[in-house]
Amino acid sequence: MGFLEDLSDKITKGGATVAQKAKEVSEIATLTATVEKEKINLDKLYMQAGKQMYEEKREILASNFPASVAKIDETIKKIEDAREAIKVAKGVSVCPGCGKEVERNVRFCPYCGASMTIKQ
Ligand SMILES: [Zn+2]
Repeated sequence: MGFLEDLSDKITKGGATVAQKAKEVSEIATLTATVEKEKINLDKLYMQAGKQMYEEKREILASNFPASVAKIDETIKKIEDAREAIKVAKGVSVCPGCGKEVERNVRFCPYCGASMTIKQ
C-alpha cells in the first residue's frame, strides 16, 4: 500500500470512528434521558401506591411502618391547622351545608341558608 492510499484509508477509518462515537454519545444521551424520565415516573407510582396504602390499608401500614405513618399524620395535621388559621385570618367559616366560605359571624349561610354553628 502506497503512502497516499494508506493515509486515505486512515482518514476514512478515522471518520467512521468519529461517526460511530457520535452515534454512541447520542444513544447514551437518549438512554440517560429515558432513565431520568422513568425514575420520575417511578417516584410518582411509589407515591400513589403509598397514598393508596395510607388511605385504604392504614392499619397494616401503621403496624409495619409506624414512624412513617406518624410523620404523615403530623403533616396532615399541620396542613389542617394552617388551613384553619387561614380561615381565621380571613375572618371566614366554612358553611356545613354548601362548603362555601362565609363571614365568620353570620348565623345563616347567604348561599344556601344553612344554620352556621357559631364557634366560640
Ligand atoms: Zn351554605
